[in-house]
Amino acid sequence: MRLEAMRIAGKLVRTDDVIEVTNPYDNSVVGTVPAARAEHVREAFQAAKAFKPRLTRHERQRILQRTAELLRDRQELFARLIVSETGLCWKDGLYEASRAYDVWSFAAQLTIKDDGEIYACDISSMGKPRKIFTTRLPLLGVISAITPFNHPLNMVSHKLAPAIATNNRVVLKPTELTPLTALALADVLYEAGLPPEMLSVVTGSPSTMGDAMITDPDADLITFTGSVRVGKHIANTAGYKRRILELGGNDPLIVMEDADLDKAAELAVTGATKNSGQRCTAVKRILVVDAVADEFSRLVTEKAKKLKSGDPMDPETDVGTVINERSAILFESRVKDAAAKGAAILHGPERRGALFAPTVVDHVPHDCELVLEETFGPVIPILRCPNDISEVILISNSTAYGLSSGVCTNRLDYIERFVAELEVGTVNVWEVPGYRIEMSPFGGIKDSGLGDKEGVVEAMKSFTNVRTWSLPWTA
Ligand code: NAP
Ligand code: MG
Repeated sequence: MRLEAMRIAGKLVRTDDVIEVTNPYDNSVVGTVPAARAEHVREAFQAAKAFKPRLTRHERQRILQRTAELLRDRQELFARLIVSETGLCWKDGLYEASRAYDVWSFAAQLTIKDDGEIYACDISSMGKPRKIFTTRLPLLGVISAITPFNHPLNMVSHKLAPAIATNNRVVLKPTELTPLTALALADVLYEAGLPPEMLSVVTGSPSTMGDAMITDPDADLITFTGSVRVGKHIANTAGYKRRILELGGNDPLIVMEDADLDKAAELAVTGATKNSGQRCTAVKRILVVDAVADEFSRLVTEKAKKLKSGDPMDPETDVGTVINERSAILFESRVKDAAAKGAAILHGPERRGALFAPTVVDHVPHDCELVLEETFGPVIPILRCPNDISEVILISNSTAYGLSSGVCTNRLDYIERFVAELEVGTVNVWEVPGYRIEMSPFGGIKDSGLGDKEGVVEAMKSFTNVRTWSLPWTA
């Protein structure tokens, strides 16, 4: 069992009150972390603000690349930690651990590039012989980063790597559910040479630290990934601070009548069940047109039945637990509610504690809680739609969310309409909604976010102030 301390500017800080981190599969205690109070958060921001990072691009590049390499060397160690605090299966834990290499190494490669622009001023009758240049500078204050449980390494990495690449200081609060991975990452960063003042990790729950992460006077920007409920609380509480909100999703996979149904069914099952269905971009609604729905639903059920749910540490397991028993019970009750309203359950639901096996539900009414809300588990809900793309788009756009989408069709006229008319941040043709590379822009609209993007390139932009400066210039 790990008895962890917070890392405040690299210093180990403990409290009398601790929070237990439990393994959702067997309820064993994996470790404890301090329950930070508001004064610890203040101390972390103060220490960060007092330090002025002066790392050269070369130094930042070295730290970021070294971090990528250390994470790659310790992949199995991280995977084990992730599996034990999340209940994700070994396959998912290993994927989560290996994916982080890209985030850190892309940030390393991007940090050496100066993205400054030059504007000649002699371009109109009112022009002058001058040039205006742009340069990006770190924020004057500190970045407040708040992260969720479902990707305990990568959601944290997507905030820290671009922050370090741009010479910023960060105070991180990982969720109390999965803080151990975040603390282990902080130690890797210190080992890789990061000045400890540039990163603090405070642990605990909002019940003891209150809104300190959101209201600290030295926090310039809040970067948050998590639920809509908390995202809106941050938006309402933060006041005159920048905020980047990456919130929940209710992503559709759309299957049109021309689709290769076997390929579409594979995407549906993978997209709905990987990471135990706990991805913001998991397939949460499958919209299939009536013309092919019977055959598609048969293929989905056949594939879902092959998935093995069980002991997360067993390398053969395809789907581990969800984050806790409370969530599993909620998903089970939503499935039963959908059935009571006319849905047909084709496989499952099977639940034991926090283990909730993949569950196929067909003929799901469009307005039941299972698909109207974000169901953050391995449910595979099929919603049948009229054979008309306009209706499909209308149904797809009918939820409050707008994160991503996947579409299964080869018709260019359909593809054009989906790209133009789906109210989402991403349209992936013949891929799951979650498909991305760590560098490409990522983020949603409507309740899924305010339109700001993550991904290393965009995050580096949003973590900087653009300074323009100009010179007399005749050439
Ligand atoms: P959550 O309940 O909103 O929690 C997210 C983080 O916010 C946790 O660290 C939580 O701390 C913290 N928090 C809550 N209230 C706070 C307050 N007053 N001050 C400071 N921090 C506060 O989300 P979750 O259940 O962990 O994560 C799942 C959600 O994240 C899903 O909706 C998923 O779709 C979304 N998500 C979105 C993206 C994206 O990029 N759009 C990516 C991944 C996940 P505690 O947990 O310690 O209470
Ligand atoms: Mg939570």
